[in-house]
Amino acid sequence: MDMTADPAPGRADAAINQDHALRYWNSVSSDVNGMLGGFPQTTRIDLQGSSNFLTKLRRGNQRGVKQSLLPLRRVADCGAGIGRITKGLLFGVAEKVDVVEPVKKFTDEFIASLTEEDKARVGEVHNLGLQDWVPEKGAYDVIWNQWCLGHLTDDQLVAYLQRCKDGLRKRDPAVSDDTDSWIVVKENMSTNIYGDDIYDPEDSSVTRSDTNFRKIFRKAGLRLITTQEQKGFPKDLYPVRMYALKPE
Ligand code: SAH
Repeated sequence: MDMTADPAPGRADAAINQDHALRYWNSVSSDVNGMLGGFPQTTRIDLQGSSNFLTKLRRGNQRGVKQSLLPLRRVADCGAGIGRITKGLLFGVAEKVDVVEPVKKFTDEFIASLTEEDKARVGEVHNLGLQDWVPEKGAYDVIWNQWCLGHLTDDQLVAYLQRCKDGLRKRDPAVSDDTDSWIVVKENMSTNIYGDDIYDPEDSSVTRSDTNFRKIFRKAGLRLITTQEQKGFPKDLYPVRMYALKPE
């Protein structure tokens, strides 16, 4: 390797190779075990934590009124894999779910696993990496990004989040109880004692620190609405944090 070509020496994301990442994911089984790197039992706790987080976020809108929440109109599951989050969370809260996932065998498995009724609730399926996806402007109530952003370099992630910002549905000021829209990020957190991001050569991804995530959100012009650590995961896994973001 020509080290002089390294664009940012010492930065973990400089090592990301997206072709390598796709080769890794294409070699992984199209099931929950493959998605979660061998910890399939964590999916229930993960989805429960996400559901609580999203419900609190949506209730925050409604100023203490304990009425039932209106369904979200259209959401996106980004880096969706076999649709674990769509099936276990987003179908329960949204009318339409678009799916973005570069590995076609995962989205094929996802579609094949659905009932006819649920198939009709899947909107667009994009077999693209997030670095190449341009969300439709003003389209989404929630853009959910989980366990996939480590495949983008810092610069790609800033640019992607800026596009997501434009992809959020704008609140209609004429409708007094119109709901908000958010970008949600749920990712592993670096445990490096110096606060550095950690490169994983197996799937060519980085695990970022909370500090670096916040820096990237700021650069993208996003405001952090709320953040929470996922509770109840096995101690030998990375800590996981959820963030809800809106345009500044
Ligand atoms: N979010 C899903 C899948 C997690 S596994 C879940 O939580 O169940 C990580 C997923 O990221 C895989 O499906 C992999 O194919 C996908 N991925 C790999 N590179 C990506 C990229 N550049 N952009 C978006 N997703 C990517």
